[in-house]
Amino acid sequence: MTEESWTIRKVLTWTTQRFEKVDLDAPRLTAEILLAHTLKLDRVKLFMELDRPLQKDELAEFRSLIQRRLQFEPTQYLTGFKDFYNRRFRVDPRVLIPRPETELLVEAVLQLLPKDAPSRVLDLCTGSGCIAVTIAAERPQASVWATDLSKGACEVAAANAEQHQVASRVSVLQGDLFAAIPAGARFDVVVSNPPYVKRGDLPGLQQEVRKEPPQALDGGEDGLDFVRRIAEGSHAALKRGGWLALEIGDEQGDAVKQVLTRAGYHAVRVEKDLARLDRLAFAQEPS
Ligand code: GLN
Repeated sequence: MTEESWTIRKVLTWTTQRFEKVDLDAPRLTAEILLAHTLKLDRVKLFMELDRPLQKDELAEFRSLIQRRLQFEPTQYLTGFKDFYNRRFRVDPRVLIPRPETELLVEAVLQLLPKDAPSRVLDLCTGSGCIAVTIAAERPQASVWATDLSKGACEVAAANAEQHQVASRVSVLQGDLFAAIPAGARFDVVVSNPPYVKRGDLPGLQQEVRKEPPQALDGGEDGLDFVRRIAEGSHAALKRGGWLALEIGDEQGDAVKQVLTRAGYHAVRVEKDLARLDRLAFAQEPS
């Protein structure tokens, strides 16, 4: 077969079958996303040009993406972005890929923040910055501080803040949890999607998840190391009556409630996600 005969249609069919063989999730969609990325087209535009043959260099680039996907590299690392709360975030292997569950956390925090009055928010373990940047973009009077232990993550978060034109209101600081926050700073909300996977569960995670930074997932022996440290440290960071909002693991509701209650917070509650699994925890600093 000559190179010219590889039309968009044919490439999509071939790639879908190849992905199906190794049981990748969403084989057809993934083929479309990767091909659209290679051709620098919108995915829907592919369908208007199904008979267009691929150029040699396009074919070569696409083949290399397929190879990487077959090695379980997440699609989002291959394309370099993930959509989150209606915005496009840059991602690479230095950061966890934003999850849809985390949109629920953002939604809940937005409910806690005034629409047209100033507020101060601290986002711990910011990673790609998807939480901090979305909050800043959705609440134009909010000032957001975002910290991460990883220098690489801070670079990605800062780039995303720049991209969404909120860099002047999102301070990205490298440091362990609260370490880089100016002494005496107080916030209306402390939010975090910390690493919460039990260390023993890491080797059993989906192959793609194992391509993500382990330090973004590893929550220690019971998965709650960060929850405990954040619960302890947030008293000094929260204004009176301020809120702590956390993403948690799907079986951690009871344990997290206990941690937060014992740490002296009020109004502790856990909410489930759309799959009815424990996913969010909230706690209020006494006033
Ligand atoms: N939700 C992630 C997963 O599916 C875990 C994210 C985290 O530890 N914060 O593995």
